[in-house]
Amino acid sequence: MPETLSNLYQLMDDTWNRIAEAYQFKCNGCKDNCCQSLFFHHTHIEKAYLRYGFEQLKPDTQKDILNKTKYYCRETFPVSGEIKSLKIMCPLNEKGRCILYPYRPMICRLHGLPHEIRKPGFNPLMGKGCETGLFDEKPYIEFDRTPFYQNMAQIEAEYRKKMKINHKIKETVAQMLLRSTENFPAAENPIL
Ligand code: SF4
Repeated sequence: MPETLSNLYQLMDDTWNRIAEAYQFKCNGCKDNCCQSLFFHHTHIEKAYLRYGFEQLKPDTQKDILNKTKYYCRETFPVSGEIKSLKIMCPLNEKGRCILYPYRPMICRLHGLPHEIRKPGFNPLMGKGCETGLFDEKPYIEFDRTPFYQNMAQIEAEYRKKMKINHKIKETVAQMLLRSTENFPAAENPIL
């Protein structure tokens, strides 16, 4: 299995593209846009990589995105401990496209296709893919996310050890950007 984040991302993208092609599936955007879904991410290395991508943007674009992240966080987390899923567009989505597409986290990369997740001793957890019903009539093509999650956990553990990070995170893309830009100096590329 890949040992770096860039290799793992490449494998995810290749696998996703191969299976999407087998379904003859093309994501053209839809009213149930996945970039409006409330996803949490759990990896410091992906947060650092997203921040690194953010640093490559022009200052005006950064400012605009940070304003959107503040709005997103204010509306989604109005008071401590409360979470509102309001289908607010991710602050990185610009006119239907991800402005940090090469830097997007794992969940954004794996989303959309029917899939399974396996835990020892349990039946596979099946995900049915996009909300649009595109896959309802088609036979399932195996897409097991488990090795990707396992490999990501290994890469994250090594990164946390190297960076001496002891705490866990559960953050949306908006929170990742807002907190990392507020709390830390400009990030180095964590995947090189
Ligand atoms: S990071 Fe990019 S792909 Fe992921 S939800 Fe935001 S805009 Fe969409």
